[in-house]
Amino acid sequence: MEIITSVAAMTEWSNQRLGAGERIALVPTMGCLHAGHLSLLGAAQAKADAVVVSVFVNPLQFGPQEDFSRYPRPFAADCEAVAAQRGNVVFAPDASTFYPAGFQTTVTVRGLTSGLCGASRPGHFDGVTTVVAKLFHAVKPQVAIFGQKDLQQLAVIKAMVFDLNWDIEIIGHPIVREADGMALSSRNRYLSESERHSALCLWQALTAARQAVSQGESDCPLLLARLRAQISADPVVEIDYLTVVHDSSLAPQARIDNHSVLAMAVRIGATRLIDNGYLIPKE
Ligand code: AMP
Repeated sequence: MEIITSVAAMTEWSNQRLGAGERIALVPTMGCLHAGHLSLLGAAQAKADAVVVSVFVNPLQFGPQEDFSRYPRPFAADCEAVAAQRGNVVFAPDASTFYPAGFQTTVTVRGLTSGLCGASRPGHFDGVTTVVAKLFHAVKPQVAIFGQKDLQQLAVIKAMVFDLNWDIEIIGHPIVREADGMALSSRNRYLSESERHSALCLWQALTAARQAVSQGESDCPLLLARLRAQISADPVVEIDYLTVVHDSSLAPQARIDNHSVLAMAVRIGATRLIDNGYLIPKE
C-alpha cells in the first residue's frame, strides 16, 4: 500500500496503472475509517484492479460553526486499515497544496442541493462537489463508490457526473450498521454513552416506519407526524429534518411507493447525525 500526498504523484501513479490497462476505483473519505468505509473498499475491489482510498478532511464542506477542527484524524490507523484490506493507495493531499492560495473555483450542483442537508448546511455540497471533482481529476478513476448513508451526496455526485459528461461509474453502497441498527459514522465517537443511546432514535424511527408501511400506511404526513412524536419524546434529540423523499429526485413525497426513502437528520448535543432507508426495503 502506498501513501501519496501530492496530486502530481497521484496522477503519475494512475497514468501508469491506466497505461497497463488496469481499472482504477476511488473511495473518497474523510478518514477515521470504520467498517462502513471498508465495505466501500471491498465493493471497489470487486469493480477494479486497483483501489485508491482518499483520506482528506475537506475544509470547504464544513460551515464556520461546524466540527472541522475537532474532526478525528487517526491517519496512521487509517493507513493500517487500508493496507490490511489490501487497498493499493491512500491518497492524502495536503490542504494547503490541494487548495493553494488564490484557489477560486467552485463546482455547484443547484436543485438537488437546496433541501435536506443542503438547507441546514449552506455551502456544504459546493465543498463536496468541488473536492470530488478535484479527486476525480487527480485519481482518474473509472468507478467511484459512495455510501447510501449520505443519500443526498450520492444523488448530487451522480448529477455532477451526468451533467459534466464524466465517464465515471458512480456506485451507491448500502449503509453498514452496528448490531443494534445504529449507522456507523466517524461522528459517533463524539457521542457520550447516553447520547449514543438517544441516537438509536434514528434506527427506531426507520424500523417503526417500515412496520407501519408494511401494515398498510401510505400517507406520508400521517406517518411523519407519528415519527416526529416518537423521536421528540427524548428531549435530548432535536430534529433537523424528517421527511419522505423520492430516492433519486429527492423531492418530498405525499404517498409511499417503491421509491420512498425516509430521510432524517438530528442533533444530539453538539453532534449532527443523519440516516435514511427505503420504506419498502429492497434487500
Ligand atoms: P465520510 O468519511 O464520512 O465522508 O464518508 C466517506 C464515504 O463513506 C461516504 O461515501 C459515506 O457515505 C460512506 N459511509 C459513511 N458511513 C457509512 C456507513 N455506515 N455505511 C456505508 N457507507 C458509509
